[in-house]
Amino acid sequence: MTEDIEFTDPNGNTAQPSESGTVIPETDKSITDHDIARYLLQYLLDCRGICHENMLLVVLDKLQKYTQDPTSQVCSTDKLVEIIKGINVKLNPLGYKISRVGHGMGKNNVSSMLKDTGLPSNNRFYVYVNTVTSEESKLATRFSTREIEFIKWCVEKMCVSRDCEVIIDCPIITEVDRIRNDVSWNKCITYSVESSEFFQYKDWSPIEIESLLFKLCGLKWFAKDENGRISMDLRCSVELEEYLIANGISTCENCHRLALQGTRCTSCSRSWHVDCYQHRITHIGKYCPCGESILQNGMYIV
Ligand SMILES: [Zn+2]
Ligand SMILES: [Zn+2]
Repeated sequence: MTEDIEFTDPNGNTAQPSESGTVIPETDKSITDHDIARYLLQYLLDCRGICHENMLLVVLDKLQKYTQDPTSQVCSTDKLVEIIKGINVKLNPLGYKISRVGHGMGKNNVSSMLKDTGLPSNNRFYVYVNTVTSEESKLATRFSTREIEFIKWCVEKMCVSRDCEVIIDCPIITEVDRIRNDVSWNKCITYSVESSEFFQYKDWSPIEIESLLFKLCGLKWFAKDENGRISMDLRCSVELEEYLIANGISTCENCHRLALQGTRCTSCSRSWHVDCYQHRITHIGKYCPCGESILQNGMYIV
């Protein structure tokens, strides 16, 4: 069944989807469910392998207008999840899959960064990832041995959290304070690293380092903020999740995925993503399993 999927590697394709998506078929053509799956995969790859759920729902809705079967024209998250499941069955023998993952910064912050689709806000992204088991071989599909050494060195630095300033207009801090409905905590940590630290890497020229960091940001392995700090982006956190957990990054108490952003209890270090923190406070309770109040005794992870 694998030979009938056509796709290009996201790393070889830097095209950005157009306003209406690049995958929409010609108007006079009717398409099948199989075509829809193929177009969705192509759209995801055109987005460099990472796409927000609402964008995929918009594309799915457009594609379904071309189907003959009225029962195939219902567009919903369940339908999208079902289609992605089918694509994953076909990608499995190729060593790839599409992973559905929530962003730790929370749905309101995610939505504020996206084009308005008119759909309810959510924090979910679909990430096209390599499923080969060893971390080395995952990296080896895209990078040279020399580049892998550098990436590993960078990732090790980003596995250590550092104290940082509580900046009032930081979106994660604003959102957590809105959820808490209280004045800010005075403690904040981050897994991001000042980009100048990466230029201390031996044997590489600043130009080589700059250009690889640029490539890694383009591939959504790393992300650079406006202050020049570099952090792990979604693809890195999904592909290297087990490695990162083994290297000391804590997981979210609610969803058990890596907690690179969110909140942490000051007494016991249990952590939550922003939306998971809100879920806990709203539906479970305002106390950490260790007994401390998570409204009062917490810190931000930004
Ligand atoms: Zn979580
Ligand atoms: Zn605690």
